[in-house]
Amino acid sequence: MNKKEKWSLSPSLESTQHVSIQKQYSLYINGKWVKPNSGIYFPSINPADESHLSSVAHANEKDVDLAVKAARAAFPSWSKLAPSERAKYIYRIARVMQEKSRELAVVETLDGGKPIRESRDIDIPLACNHFFYYAGWADKLCYAFPNRKVEPLGVAAQIIPWNFPLLMAAWKIAPALATGNTVVLKPAESTSLTALKLAEIIDEIGLPKGVVNIITGFGDTGAALVNHPDVNKIAFTGSTQVGKIIQKAIVGTSKKATLELGGKSANIIFDDAPIDQAVEGIVNGIFFNQGHVCCAGSRLFVQENIADKVIRKLKLRLKSLYVGNPLDKNTDIGAINSKEQLEIIKSFISVGKKEGAEIYQPTCEIPKKGYYCPPTLFLNVAQSHTIVQEEIFGPVLTIQTFRTIDEVIQKANNTPYGLAAGVWTDKGSRIFNLTTKLKAGVVWANTYNKFDPTSPFGGYKESGFGREGGLHGLAAYTKLS
Ligand code: NDP
Repeated sequence: MNKKEKWSLSPSLESTQHVSIQKQYSLYINGKWVKPNSGIYFPSINPADESHLSSVAHANEKDVDLAVKAARAAFPSWSKLAPSERAKYIYRIARVMQEKSRELAVVETLDGGKPIRESRDIDIPLACNHFFYYAGWADKLCYAFPNRKVEPLGVAAQIIPWNFPLLMAAWKIAPALATGNTVVLKPAESTSLTALKLAEIIDEIGLPKGVVNIITGFGDTGAALVNHPDVNKIAFTGSTQVGKIIQKAIVGTSKKATLELGGKSANIIFDDAPIDQAVEGIVNGIFFNQGHVCCAGSRLFVQENIADKVIRKLKLRLKSLYVGNPLDKNTDIGAINSKEQLEIIKSFISVGKKEGAEIYQPTCEIPKKGYYCPPTLFLNVAQSHTIVQEEIFGPVLTIQTFRTIDEVIQKANNTPYGLAAGVWTDKGSRIFNLTTKLKAGVVWANTYNKFDPTSPFGGYKESGFGREGGLHGLAAYTKLS
């Protein structure tokens, strides 16, 4: 092809005809849709084109109290229900989610801006799998924790962020139900719709009233939930800043907590790594879900002798990434979740430039309306740069080089966070060496951003504590004696 010849992909838009989004959503409390005491409904916006999708209720303290009371009232009978019966309910949720997976995927993409390929192939199937997986454990808790008495904790208050809305709801609700707890869940204000669709599913399958309550709102709704005296467990995923507020709020109470917070994870490429695969791993590590991933591989470390080659290939690969309409199946990088988040990302990019880092962004056409950010690389960065230290939560990668293993371990661990890391090398022994020395909750080898319901996930240091997924995720909702 002539070098100057322009080419483009034919659009391949996912249909929205099969999707039903109500004009207005109330709160799902005690098996009923109830109007908020505040009388306030706030808009849910499609970040891809700034259109209005729906209006969502703002729950105030009174609503939070109603939801917690409903969960408390449902607890005795739910926790005493035969575990095999509990399993059937959870299994039914998974099956109906599967049946509605196309609709859920489109709603997730409309509400959050993530590419339809990701919501269709990753978010929704994984969310279903979490319900299937924990349905399987519900009547086998004596095998999960042999020779222990297993009891539920009571009412679980669950607060989730906007980057994986339905998946985070599944991570939290499924193990809580399997172990006999009841739930009040608050989704993030910018992405409430799939949690509300999940409430419809929960209603449809006839889960006993009050076992799961879904209340929408802002940070004050989350704070009221955390501070409610009749809550036994807090499961929070979100920023380190809010995680610290929550931890302070529950000091001196008997509330149990798991906090899944931010990250600034290292993706490390050694010179014996399969370079082309590693380049794909770098792209997946930082540009998956527009970089709105707590465990995003946002700090790249490349061994010095292959750095030129890796950076050249990476720049070339970036040129072929398609930034645009998230409903288009060609899209690799969709819309940034909100205007506020786009502003945060832009301000980090300008700080990076001001501090003297070298920026690379491929020329790409981005839609005129909506919130978009091209994939961005920063070269010539030092450990002290703000963009290396702070979580950006967007499609921005910093690139550093290293010579020896000790050097890269030191650099990778030089962060207040400790959520994840990636290691690319041909040597198994080197992988094992690094997994013991990197201070991260998850270390991926020759891959990145792989999730599975059977596998625990969580962090160290300012990335939080406690694990979700697998047996660890069950344990977090039980009292073992
Ligand atoms: P926030 O911490 O701002 O919000 C998370 C949730 O908490 C939202 O539902 C939010 O409500 C609610 N909330 C806000 N203030 C309070 C409060 N004072 N008390 C109780 N709840 C509150 O994070 P974001 O939603 O902006 O998500 C991005 C952050 O989450 C990133 O830093 C990212 O690293 C982290 N994250 C971590 C993950 C992990 O597994 N470790 C996974 C995903 C994200 P509202 O939306 O209405 O403000």
